[in-house]
Order: sequence, then structure tokens, then C-alpha cells
Amino acid sequence: MTSDFVLANGLLFKLLWKCKVTDDPSMVLCVPEEYVPQILYHYHDYIMSGHQGIVRTYSTVREKFFFPNMFEKVQQYVRSCHLCQTMKASPKLPVASFSHIPVNFTPFDHMSMDIKDMPMSFSHYHKIIIFNCLATQYTVVCPFVQFQLRQFLTAFSQRSFVFLESHP
Ligand SMILES: [Zn+2]
Repeated sequence: MTSDFVLANGLLFKLLWKCKVTDDPSMVLCVPEEYVPQILYHYHDYIMSGHQGIVRTYSTVREKFFFPNMFEKVQQYVRSCHLCQTMKASPKLPVASFSHIPVNFTPFDHMSMDIKDMPMSFSHYHKIIIFNCLATQYTVVCPFVQFQLRQFLTAFSQRSFVFLESHP
């Protein structure tokens, strides 16, 4: 046995040194081969572990345990994890870049629309439809009880609804 291992209370610990000259070592438990799958499951698959990647799983495990060929075993375990292989996005996918969207359209050519639930009004309106002009940020709000396209188009064409001007 080399000086990097210590037997305490019937358990074998490995000493980890950041610097043998200046620092005291930390101790990690040496794990028999038969417990390695349970440890890897706990530190990779368990709900609080979150299926971290190879490096993070290895870093977490080696803070507490030692077993031969740790990195290779963690690497093999993570690479064989079905959930990681099927659910995680590939890190090689290109990242979308931020860019300015050219504003080369005229007011009211391009509108966004959203429907929101609201508290019931005295007139029993409980929904609003919101239109927003993408060029000017001009906002149109129309309350309604139950959405009916014909009713809304009539109201929109007659402009018999609330106009709100938003300030960007
Ligand atoms: Zn996984």
C-alpha cells in the first residue's frame, strides 16, 4: 500500500493532495467494484443529479469516491445512458446569432396578435384580443365574451374598440 491510501474504521480511503508541500490532503472513499454502478446511477441518473455530462459527473464522483479507471467508467456510463443519448441536444448544433430585424415595412402591414384571459367585467367581457403593429408598436385592444371572427372583423373595420398607444 502506498502512502496515498489510509485505512480507517475498516474503510479504505484515498488521499487527494492539491499540493503535498503546503496542503493537507482530503480523503475519498475507495469503492469496491460492485458498488460502482450504484454510485454512477446516483450521481448521473438520480433526479437531483440531472444527467450531467461526462466531465461534471466525473468531477462530482471524484470529490467523494475513488475506484480504478474512474474517468473511463464514468465516460462509458454517460455515453451509454439512453436518456442522454435521446433527449439532449447535440452541442454541435449552430447557435442562432442575434441580429437586427430589418424594419422595412409600413405601419399596419405586419401585426402580431394575442388573446388573453381577463377578470370578468360588468359587461361580462372576460377576454381581450390584442393587436400590435410591428413597425410602430401601435396597440389595438378589443374586449370580447366569446371569440367570433365575423364579430371581431366587423368591430375591427368599424374601429369600435379601444386604441392604446404604446411607447417602445
Ligand atoms: Zn443520462
